Amino acid sequence: MNCGDVRAKLHAYVDGELPVNEITDVDSHCVECRECAALARAEREFRQLLRRQPREAAPAELRARIVSRVRRESVVALGRPWLLAPIAAAVAAVVVMVLLPAHPSWPSSSTSTSPTRRSTALPSSPRLTLVR
Ligand SMILES: [Zn+2]
Repeated sequence: MNCGDVRAKLHAYVDGELPVNEITDVDSHCVECRECAALARAEREFRQLLRRQPREAAPAELRARIVSRVRRESVVALGRPWLLAPIAAAVAAVVVMVLLPAHPSWPSSSTSTSPTRRSTALPSSPRLTLVR
């Protein structure tokens, strides 16, 4: 591992997000390279400094404004049909595939006499039967 490798992984290294073998590689490099060791030390100190900062919650008014704006933007997104069309199409396809075979008026395989009739027969709805 060279200096460029170490610097590319420095944040993950300091945050403890690297796999063990890469941590070992960075550790080994930092034993030999003072510059990378100093960078790692500086990053650790910076993180410690951040952790020592007081944590303050955002004012309730700011939180309410943010939540309100996110909701408003969500509604705007819902008003754009092209954003929902793929989802609606997928939901419709699933509903059709799940519900149609279970429809009570759908011809079952026991009532159909031939495979040809089964594939071409349309389900008769009770309403249409009354009209006839
Ligand atoms: Zn180095």
